This record gives sequence, C-alpha cells and structure tokens, in this order.
Amino acid sequence: MNSRMYSLGSKRSVIREIFEFGKKRAAEVGADKVFDFSLGNPSVEPPAVVKETLKALLESGDQTALHGYTSAQGDPATRKAIADYIAKTQGAETDPDLIYMTCGAAASLTITLSAICNAGDEVITFAPFFTEYRVFTETAGAKLIELASDPDTFQIDFSLLEKAVNERTAAVLINSPNNPSGVVYGEETIGKLAALLEKKSRELKKEIWLITDEPYRELVYGGVRVPYLTKYYKNTVVCYSYSKSLSLPGERIGYIFVNPHAENARELYLAVCGAGRALGYVCAPSLFQKMIAKCQGAVSDVSVYERNRDMLAGALEEYGYRCVRPDGAFYLFVKSLEEDAYAFCERAKKYGLLLVPGDDFGCKGYVRIAYCVSPDMISRSLPYFKKLAEEYGRQKSWETPPQGVMGKK
Ligand code: PLP
Repeated sequence: MNSRMYSLGSKRSVIREIFEFGKKRAAEVGADKVFDFSLGNPSVEPPAVVKETLKALLESGDQTALHGYTSAQGDPATRKAIADYIAKTQGAETDPDLIYMTCGAAASLTITLSAICNAGDEVITFAPFFTEYRVFTETAGAKLIELASDPDTFQIDFSLLEKAVNERTAAVLINSPNNPSGVVYGEETIGKLAALLEKKSRELKKEIWLITDEPYRELVYGGVRVPYLTKYYKNTVVCYSYSKSLSLPGERIGYIFVNPHAENARELYLAVCGAGRALGYVCAPSLFQKMIAKCQGAVSDVSVYERNRDMLAGALEEYGYRCVRPDGAFYLFVKSLEEDAYAFCERAKKYGLLLVPGDDFGCKGYVRIAYCVSPDMISRSLPYFKKLAEEYGRQKSWETPPQGVMGKK
C-alpha cells in the first residue's frame, strides 16, 4: 500500500477526536452539560428556496436527465447562471467556459493545486489556515510555506511575504473570511498583495497564481465587504463552495473559476479539467448543480451567526479572554490562557467546553471556538467559560491588549 496514504488515514484528527469525546461525555453526564464548539457544521437551516427548488426538480418531468451525468466540467446552464451572477454582483468579467463545478471547496482546492503545481513547487499561505491545506498541497507534489500573520490583526505580514516569494513559488493561497480567525482581508490588503505579486512576477519572470479559498464569502457581519479578487490580480483562481453559504456541507457542491484575464487562462482551465479527471472529480452532483442554477443569490440567515458572535465575543472579553475581532465566518480564535493550547483544552473539557487547539491551524497558543451552534448552548456555556478564566486568575497573566484586538478595533 501507499505509505503516505496509510499515514494520512491513520493519523489522528484532533477535531474528530474531540467530537467523539463529546458524544461519549454526553452519554455519561447528559447532553446539556457538554458544549461542543469543535465542528464547523452550519447550525442555520438552508434557505427555503433550496428545499422548494429541490422539490420542484424532483417532481419535474425528466428524472433520467435530472440524475444523469452532466459534462465533466458541469452543466452548461449552471455554469452560465454562476457566471452571470458573479458579473452582476461583483462587476467582474466572467466566462462560463472558465468555470468548473466541483464537490465543495476541498475538491476545488485539490484540483486547482494539482492543475498549477509541479514537483518541488512552493505554495505560500498565512497562519492561521485551514488544516487541510498541508495535505492538499503535498498531494499536488508541492510544499506548503506557512507564513506567520501580524499577531495583532491576523492580516498579512508583507515583509515576510516579500522575502518568501522566490522562483519556486507557484501560488499564494488565501482564505478570507478566514477559518479559524474570522478575519477578512479588506481592499487595502488585497491591493497590496496584488501589487507585491505583480512586482515579484515581473522580477522573477514567471506567473504566480493567487488561489482564493472562499467558502465563507457571504458570511460577513456589520456591512463588511469581501473584495472580489479577479478584479485586483489577473492570475487569480477562485475556489468557491456552497457548504456554508447555503448550509449544505454534506451535499458537496462548489466550483472553480479561472479569471478570464489570467495569462494562459484557457490553458490553465484545461489543466483544471485534467486535474479533475485525474483525481476523479468529474460531473459534480447533478441534482445539486441544477438546484444551484436556480438559487444564485440565496444565502442562509447569517444574522444568527452574527448574534452568536456578539454574545460569545462580548462575554469572553469580559471574562478576560483575548482574540482578534472576527468580521466573518463562524469562528473565534482565542488566545489560550496558558502557553500550551492542548493543556488549556484539557482543562476546558472539565467544564464540558470542547475547543480545538490552534496548533494544527499553524498557530500555537490559540484555540478555535466554532460558534455555529444554538444560541441557547452559547448562553448555557458562558458560566463555564467564566469559571475557566477564573481558574487562571482571569486577566492577571495578560498584558494590555494591542490595537485591533476584540473590542478595541
Ligand atoms: N476551506 C476552508 C477554509 C474551510 O473552512 C473548509 C471547510 O470547513 C473547506 C475549505 C472545505 O469546504 P467544503 O466542505 O466545501 O469542501
């Protein structure tokens, strides 16, 4: 057997372990005493139009076509609907023939990385980052270069990026709104990033791709806007998923969009088709492709997440916890109350609080709290977060929080 695959399959997943522990613990002490903040599974129902559209499709005439294969890159009508929607809402140039339907962001990323990278290439990303980036990049034969972010804001540290880009750099991979920090890259950051990559491409005389992982694009709060990357940098590939925006993570549907302005856009798209073929990601789920074509613009009720964020972030701040204020997604990335985040999570478990250590996200000394849970669970968990903070003497070990930290922005 392949030893790398064996090692990937047998390696423990911290999040999965915590989730299993939660189920066991709930059976022992009662579900009301376990507060599982480990999983990024949307807690809000899909919008009603999803169910209505699926129902109408299932009751419509030709069931063979409905469930049959689409073309490998996806149904033309679906790709056109997506292209039209991006053009209308973002004012970006689009082309259905540069869209490839996939099984969620995970497939979008594995395909894109395989389409771009050759053995020995490097892909740069910024910590904290989605844990699977390492696996996806290595599967594409490349190496993930993990750069620390500005610790006060979790924005890009451009001095580190400037030094890291070299002749082996095939791509820079970003995720905004971010899992696990919830941070959004604004227009200024994106402008600077585009300028730096253009300068480096010229100096090194090579294409450097910008891969933007966007499952949380619509999950933003307080009127925050997420810039559309193809308008800022030509060699951009968008990896999108409906897992979070429509609360459909189990249905595995998303897409890849190659910017029409990219150098060799058509060739890269063919490489995307090739990678999809090589990895077995052809013809994304047909029923859901057809639903997507009719549900462009629909989004789950994100105000629920916003209220959760406010309730949890406000209370944690009061108890002496520190974190960068999240503008999007549904995670808080909180400073652990001791250096070893694993030890802190073990202590939290005593109170039934199930949190994920930040180490796997490339950031030691932090924990991720997924607040895509019921508001009731959050309010019941708060006294335990308070007791946990008290166990550490609350703010005693904390210096004054720097600018940009929750509540100080
Ligand atoms: N990228 C990020 C940042 C994520 O948080 C996730 C899932 O949580 C994925 C990719 C994978 O998304 P999907 O379930 O659509 O494959």
